[in-house]
Amino acid sequence: MDAALVGHEHAKTPLDITCWDIFGKSVGMPVCDLLGGRTNRALPIISSIYMGDPDDMRKRVAEHRAMGYLGHSVKIGGDPADDAARIAASLADKRPGEFFLVDANGGMTVETALRMLRLLPNGLDFVLEAPCATWRECVSLRRRTDVPIIFDELAINDAAIIQMIADGAVEGIGLKVSKNGGLTKGRRARDFCIAAGMTISVQDTVGTDISFAGVVHLVQTVPEKYLRCILEVRDLVTVKAADSELRVVNGRVTASDSPGLGITPLAHSTVLHERRQAIALAA
Ligand SMILES: [Mg+2]
Repeated sequence: MDAALVGHEHAKTPLDITCWDIFGKSVGMPVCDLLGGRTNRALPIISSIYMGDPDDMRKRVAEHRAMGYLGHSVKIGGDPADDAARIAASLADKRPGEFFLVDANGGMTVETALRMLRLLPNGLDFVLEAPCATWRECVSLRRRTDVPIIFDELAINDAAIIQMIADGAVEGIGLKVSKNGGLTKGRRARDFCIAAGMTISVQDTVGTDISFAGVVHLVQTVPEKYLRCILEVRDLVTVKAADSELRVVNGRVTASDSPGLGITPLAHSTVLHERRQAIALAA
């Protein structure tokens, strides 16, 4: 595909994931075994705490904690003082073993990020994700703060990940499978990160059961020391494209032992009305 068309990783991803599923089914092996071998860990799903009133964000973290979630992704990107209050409230009840990402989705400037960090109480334990939109801004911020930083939107190919390692720009990545072109390239990104001692979360912006199965099988191969979290990409999707064995239990999921991705694609996609209602209520 790369020989025929430069870039356009989103378009190549479904074909790449399909090939891995067919390969696994043809040899009777789950994709995670073909990608390097399974760990024995149930994979921690990360919550997504949308930006809002600090007390409401604290409440939504507590609701996900009650469902067994260990990881929480707290969204920010507004006024520095408001964002500092959102972080402090979201982390107020942090328990041992919990992990917090604070995700600005590239929404801060270096100036607003530095102001926000200075307004925070001391000792809060979190990792900052995608603080600024551009590489230059993020690296500038990296040089001036001791808060760990990870990239997701800027970690979109081999060259970018190698540059991160060479620049000492980040402590980890949030790998978006579709932006990186599928599991073939995702596997390579995983190996670069492990070789560099960086942490990995794996995600997609949103996705169907097929996308989620690809994410789960890749994450199932990441050694525990390097793995942060996995995103339940199906949460914001109302289209069902496959039957899947993947069940989230107590905030965790495990890749199935079935051949391939453990999915059965549907001939015709269906619309999940219950999920559509849940999304409408959350919004
Ligand atoms: Mg993000």
